Amino acid sequence: MVQAIVGANWGDEGKGKITDMLAQEADIIVRFQGGANAGHTIVNSYGKFALHTLPSGVFNDHTTNIIGNGVALNIPVLFNEIKSITDKNVPMPKLLVSDRAQMVMPYHIKLDEYEEERLAGKSFGSTKSGIAPFYSDKYAKIGFQVSELFDEASLKEKIERVIVQKNVILEHLYHKPTLKVDEIFDTLMEYKSMVEPYVCDVSAYLYEAIKEGKNILLEGQLGSLKDPDHGIYPMVTSSSTLAAYGAIGAGIPPYEIKKIITVCKAYSSAVGAGAFVSEIFGDEADELRRRGGDGGEYGATTGRPRRMGWFDCVASKYGCRIQGTTDVAFTVLDVLGYLDEIPVCIGYEIGGEITTDFPTTTKLEKAKPVIKTLPGWKSDIRGIRNYEELPENCRNYIEFIEEQIGFPITMVSNGPGRDDIIYRKK
Ligand code: GDP
Repeated sequence: MVQAIVGANWGDEGKGKITDMLAQEADIIVRFQGGANAGHTIVNSYGKFALHTLPSGVFNDHTTNIIGNGVALNIPVLFNEIKSITDKNVPMPKLLVSDRAQMVMPYHIKLDEYEEERLAGKSFGSTKSGIAPFYSDKYAKIGFQVSELFDEASLKEKIERVIVQKNVILEHLYHKPTLKVDEIFDTLMEYKSMVEPYVCDVSAYLYEAIKEGKNILLEGQLGSLKDPDHGIYPMVTSSSTLAAYGAIGAGIPPYEIKKIITVCKAYSSAVGAGAFVSEIFGDEADELRRRGGDGGEYGATTGRPRRMGWFDCVASKYGCRIQGTTDVAFTVLDVLGYLDEIPVCIGYEIGGEITTDFPTTTKLEKAKPVIKTLPGWKSDIRGIRNYEELPENCRNYIEFIEEQIGFPITMVSNGPGRDDIIYRKK
């Protein structure tokens, strides 16, 4: 069976933890989109890890980890990450890389940096991982697939062709050093020697795995609201963050995705620019940021402080719907135990009208939150394993949100560890 684990919001919902937890029963975990621009934080018996490129199954020796064709593959980052986990005594993971995955080129990262520099204060808040230039090139059909590393003559000829255009931009728009064919070729040959043992026809591999009834997880990055089509364009990422894209980015039939677990955090956080209706500021935000997640709400890749807000029912209802949610995993609930009262955004007021439907970006910019306040539970809920043992106000909070978003919350996460989970029968 194929299951997808995806985010309902702006990312950082705790997908890494849920994936790591479900990975214990998974034969295969596939990354299907995104690149090293975001990260999952995973806490387990080996320690605490920030994974950017590796699938979250790398801690289980029985799981095969796959980088699908939809990923922006940064080969040096991938190999540094493998080293960072094996250095902490995690056994070398079983890894396969799609021969159709495209590679982040060194100049993608440079172009990302130069563009942020040029835009200065008007930037999109890029993590400068080269993701936007990478996907631009992919769809402009001047990207490089892993498979192309194995035909050196045509590779060199293609580099020559592609860098003509890059050099015009580097020289005349950014006034920076230009690219040289031999340097790029040599770098790609280094990439080849690193990646060669793992290269695989992933869609063929998964076709067989599905036939054999293997348990497969598709691991999403970021969340619904960062999707280039359905999110808060243009403050989005460059590849689709939706479960549906899992079929394309892994190379499997869409109808094989039987379960879509959408991860929703008990409050909101976001990184980068863009409308964030339930955002809070000042001391209120600082306190939630400091207490949030596991050691504070700071970017796993960048260390940037995240923007904070109360739970947004409008955004989350939409985020769950657009994913095609079958199950909601409601996470980081333990963090809210300090609050006397918990504000929740239950609607948007746009031009004097109240709606619970998530609008397009132009309207979103004008939305004001409609807030309802629920009583807090004022206690530490970590360690609880049965839903009925949660304080009444805590259950009320969960059930109120479940009703608002309209999708079943079947898992409640009350701590960063693998075992900090409460299953609800639905
Ligand atoms: P992801 O990209 O969606 O995986 O999100 P992050 O890596 O930002 O994960 C969110 C953070 O919250 C990480 O530091 C996790 O260890 C932590 N975390 C996940 N679930 C829980 C939870 O239920 N409670 C607490 N306190 N922390 C959690």
